[in-house]
Amino acid sequence: MSCGEPHETDCSEVLDHLYEYLDREMPDSDCEKFKEHFDECSPCLEKYGLEQEVKKLVKRCCGHDDVPSDLRSKVMGRIELIRAAEAAGSDGAAAAGEAEASERRAAEKDDQDALRATETSSADSSARGRKKFA
Ligand SMILES: [Zn+2]
Repeated sequence: MSCGEPHETDCSEVLDHLYEYLDREMPDSDCEKFKEHFDECSPCLEKYGLEQEVKKLVKRCCGHDDVPSDLRSKVMGRIELIRAAEAAGSDGAAAAGEAEASERRAAEKDDQDALRATETSSADSSARGRKKFA
């Protein structure tokens, strides 16, 4: 992961501390060195842009962390409705059956969203682990 050109700051150093740069967790003097390096070194700039996109994506997806509990309460609410409809008589139960089918479709979609959010979160935690040991 190097363009082969000599730089004042080594590519490996830049890549090792990329997350600190992304998280603004480094001294200004180091930030300047990194900025300079990205100007000179397109492979590192590319890597930086990629990680920045991942970070943005993770941030957006982590806003959906409450999906599973939200989904549970929605499903529980629906079950209560179905029970009430069943208690009210056979006509009510048929209507509830239809509602249940549409809710199941919605729940499946939510599950997929939750799964995606989980995948992205675990990618983030592995990145954070890497940062900790860098
Ligand atoms: Zn470089």
